[in-house]
Amino acid sequence: MGKKKNLENWIEGKYRIGTWDKFPNYECLLCPYSTLDEEAMVRHIILVHAPPPEPQAETKTPRYDRFGNLIEEE
Ligand SMILES: [Zn+2]
Repeated sequence: MGKKKNLENWIEGKYRIGTWDKFPNYECLLCPYSTLDEEAMVRHIILVHAPPPEPQAETKTPRYDRFGNLIEEE
C-alpha cells in the first residue's frame, strides 16, 4: 500500500494542471507533452518517464493497471 502511494506522489509531481480554453489541461513537466485526459497523462508518465526500478533480490517486471496503479503480486 505504501508503495502504491509513493508511485502516486511521484506521478503527481511530474505534471501540472493548467487550462486550455475552459478545460483543465494536463502538462508534463519533463517534456512538451500535454493532454486534456488525466488518465492519459498518468499513463504517459509511467510509460515515458518510468520511475527507476527499486533494487530487489528477485527480478520482477512491475505491472500497472489501466489507471496507472502498480499491481502488487504475491
Ligand atoms: Zn512527458
